[in-house]
Amino acid sequence: MVNGISVDTILIPSDNYSYVLRRGDCAIVIDACNGTLLFEYLQRQNLKLQAILSTHHHSDHTSGNLKLKKMTGCEIVATDKRVRGADRIVADSDSIKFCDSHITALLLPGHTKHGAGWYLPDEGMVFTGDTMFGAGCGRLFEGSPDQMYNSLQRLASLPDDTLVYFGHEYTIDNLGFALSLEPDNEALQDRFKAETCKLSEGTYTTPSTVNIEKTTNPFLRCREKTIRAQLGMIDRSPVAVFAEVRKRKDRF
Ligand code: ZN
Ligand code: FE
Repeated sequence: MVNGISVDTILIPSDNYSYVLRRGDCAIVIDACNGTLLFEYLQRQNLKLQAILSTHHHSDHTSGNLKLKKMTGCEIVATDKRVRGADRIVADSDSIKFCDSHITALLLPGHTKHGAGWYLPDEGMVFTGDTMFGAGCGRLFEGSPDQMYNSLQRLASLPDDTLVYFGHEYTIDNLGFALSLEPDNEALQDRFKAETCKLSEGTYTTPSTVNIEKTTNPFLRCREKTIRAQLGMIDRSPVAVFAEVRKRKDRF
């Protein structure tokens, strides 16, 4: 619990994350990945759903939108009008308030053209959807390497202890790839062990923190000499290195 708000992590099979933010009986869902599962959860917990905040329009993150809106009358807020059932489209850096929390929209193009992160500055939390994963990032479906690089840098510029809640459980696979680029990075080796432990105990690897991502996520480490040397790109720009790392991950 941070500043009176707590986050329930709901893993929607097989690897999607929905999040329920709650204060008292007031709830917000970040990415309604499954309407039935989430509606049952809200009922069991006696929560009143105020809003769904969607990170992007892909169906694995929005397939519960219409059902939850119909069952609860909640508002659906997004940064992309393609999001199913969107009632309100907000712009970059707009601040909205639900359940007594200020939530800032961060426009993060790259995975999609109009995707968002949802940032709670007072609580020190950010919900990144498919822009940033644990030790990874989403594929470039609608954006350029330049856009995705800048979106990731924007997330990396948040305070180090900001909790990072991401959209999929891909962390172990991502760490395997990261280790192929930086086999001697001790923070990476330690994280691999720690995250493997969490999963074998039945807990999740979400959330991480901005600092953990900065030290172990290869997509945030395109300025590091070790990675540039490994790729034979010592003199290339961080965006060029990012594009190459993304290309290699697509084939990993
Ligand atoms: Zn997606
Ligand atoms: Fe996804």
